[in-house]
Amino acid sequence: MERYKTICLDLDGTVYKGSQAIPESVAFIRTLQQSGIEPYFITNNSSRTALEQQKKLEMLGVETTEQQIMTSAIASAKYCAQEFAGETVQMIGESGLREALLDEGITLVEDGGDIVIMGIDHEITYDKLATACLSIRNGAHFLATNGDLAVPNELGLVPGNGAFIELVKASTGVTPTILGKPQSYMLEFIQQQSGASKDEMIMIGDNYETDILSGIGFGIDTIHLQGGVTALAEVLSKAEVPTFMFKTLAEWNN
Ligand SMILES: [Mg+2]
Repeated sequence: MERYKTICLDLDGTVYKGSQAIPESVAFIRTLQQSGIEPYFITNNSSRTALEQQKKLEMLGVETTEQQIMTSAIASAKYCAQEFAGETVQMIGESGLREALLDEGITLVEDGGDIVIMGIDHEITYDKLATACLSIRNGAHFLATNGDLAVPNELGLVPGNGAFIELVKASTGVTPTILGKPQSYMLEFIQQQSGASKDEMIMIGDNYETDILSGIGFGIDTIHLQGGVTALAEVLSKAEVPTFMFKTLAEWNN
């Protein structure tokens, strides 16, 4: 395992479950850091800023910096800056997306943007959706942070960003470019930042359909971690299985 220098960990279901740390993962991260490797943390959740995410990790016993955190909001902002330099953005989303866009020096507008980006917005309204649809019909590029249709909260599975994307897609007939997992944009931006080669990178996560497929799609090794979204039996039934399948990260052996 020594060849892996850029180690990318999913967050929920991999480092913690809701507000509970996964002890083997926290211990694994400490061991990595003692050997001089700062892991990267990847999440499809666009609502938190990198700073808020860093604070959450700190509360659960994981020390890291904002630079090691890659969210679907940060990837969306970087994508806009690289692909559509100088264009204006109209967003639906929360502080995580807003701050990521401002960090890239992107100009935000209320309506008539060159680009419409959709991220989860717990205060979404008919007006926000209507304004987004009108801009897309007027030719704005349509981007979305992530396509998760349902996400867990304390009560069960509730609508994720993907459910609202479906609404805009149905109304406009336009399909967005989605930046989060299972797409590989977040891994690509981490590679740009770390300068690692693909064989030095590995993606670790509990969800086959997002974490593992983003790693496979990017052409890097993957570890499926049990006890989360995808059961081992289901992983084993896939045409393309992860490089490693672990019960916990205590099984990582250098
Ligand atoms: Mg997960």
